[in-house]
Amino acid sequence: MTYVIAQPCVDVKDKACIEECPVDCIYEGSRSLYIHPDECVDCGACEPVCPVEAIFYEDDVPEEWKDYYKANVEFFDELGSPGGASKLGLIESDHPFVAALPADINPAEH
Ligand code: SF4
Ligand code: SF4
Repeated sequence: MTYVIAQPCVDVKDKACIEECPVDCIYEGSRSLYIHPDECVDCGACEPVCPVEAIFYEDDVPEEWKDYYKANVEFFDELGSPGGASKLGLIESDHPFVAALPADINPAEH
């Protein structure tokens, strides 16, 4: 099981969650952050600090954002398990699903 970052993070990337994660498993893509499903220890520390409520426990992802589970998992298909996000820094790519979202997907957050 894992926590998942959903749509409200896209183009917002406030990064408050990164500070809270004890295992450094929240990775930064171009438009969104992604939680590594195998490195996440389900501690829940990141979830309450996200100012836009983008983070959900896997089972609690709202129906409309179910695709983000796949996006968080598949983002790491090529990266594997780096074992720490801070050493990678910004990864200049996104899951294709996130990359294809309209530029104004979160207009209220800009
Ligand atoms: S705190 Fe929320 S908006 Fe900020 S990077 Fe983390 S998931 Fe995205
Ligand atoms: S639930 Fe815990 S381990 Fe998983 S991403 Fe959030 S802070 Fe990191």
